[in-house]
Amino acid sequence: MFNKLIAAILPYFPEKFIWIFSRSYISGVSIEDAMRVSKNLNANKIKVTFDILGEFIKNLDEAEANKQEYLNLIDVAFKNGVDGNFSIKPTSFGLLIDKEICYRHIRDIVLKAASYKSFVRIHMDDSPCTTLEIELFRRLKEEFPKNVGLVVQAYLKRTLDDIKSLIDLNSEAVPLSFRICKGIYTEPEAISFKKYEEINQHYLEDLEFMLKNKIHVGIATHDKPLIDAAYKLIGKYDVPKHLYEFQMLYGVTPKLREDIVNKGHIMRVYIPFGKKWFGYCIRRMKENPKMVSHIIKAIFYKG
Ligand SMILES: Cc1cc2nc3c(=O)[nH]c(=O)nc-3n(C[C@H](O)[C@H](O)[C@H](O)COP(=O)(O)OP(=O)(O)OC[C@H]3O[C@@H](n4cnc5c(N)ncnc54)[C@H](O)[C@@H]3O)c2cc1C
Repeated sequence: MFNKLIAAILPYFPEKFIWIFSRSYISGVSIEDAMRVSKNLNANKIKVTFDILGEFIKNLDEAEANKQEYLNLIDVAFKNGVDGNFSIKPTSFGLLIDKEICYRHIRDIVLKAASYKSFVRIHMDDSPCTTLEIELFRRLKEEFPKNVGLVVQAYLKRTLDDIKSLIDLNSEAVPLSFRICKGIYTEPEAISFKKYEEINQHYLEDLEFMLKNKIHVGIATHDKPLIDAAYKLIGKYDVPKHLYEFQMLYGVTPKLREDIVNKGHIMRVYIPFGKKWFGYCIRRMKENPKMVSHIIKAIFYKG
């Protein structure tokens, strides 16, 4: 209730005030900020994935502009020698306005990333987008088998079936690649798990299915019990390093992150940046008021 109230009134605060709350989660406004932060992480044996902030656009001119920004980002990241890949939100390219135009923009981005032998991860937005994003992924994966992956959300009841529905695209030579996360949006009870224990149980079922079937997986979580359970599954299936990595959000649980790296696992940090940081932060807090307590906790308990 308190979180909901704070989330509702935050948009009326000055941007400078919100920046105090948000700066530990956003690597910066400019591409230079993103490069600087990434090189620091790379120096500490951590890979990155870049995300230019912005989603749910209102017109297709914005989609074109977003594509150009990503094409430039890919060049800049490679000129800077950053060890990283790219995450994109289909709603930033007009998924809900014209899915064919969205596909063409994303294809251009994947093509560019492929020219550097790099990789693009398709973000999972809220449930009206799930089927569209799976279809988009399938189309791209068929053309660029090594260069594209998808996010799946453990809180959706459909997720294990979705993963199974894509298994025909998995092979030892070119495995499927998923990022498994809990899911950040507020979804209806009819289609989603709500309880912490249920979400975690489903997360581990999805993860086990992937590891057992030699699907590459980005284990995206800051939840210690899930990370410990993931270690056990990795041991149980003797999963080689090239088939999994851990992933975390920039600025979140850095001590736990360091612990994972020190155990010798691959770690990738999600680096959101860009001019649209204000809208992004406000939306995150409104979509999930739990974010407010994470942010308040992070301010008082850095580490
Ligand atoms: C790399 C990456 C990519 C993602 N991509 C997507 C996506 O495409 N679609 C989507 O719906 N969601 C995405 N998410 C968000 C994800 O779904 C969760 O909402 C988020 O990761 C929090 O869940 P958790 O597994 O850390 O568990 P939780 O149970 O939420 O958190 C466990 C503990 O981690 C800490 N923590 C978690 N989040 C924060 C925070 N923001 N600030 C401070 N502390 C925190 C807290 O101590 C908390 O108790 C992504 C997350 C990551 C790490």
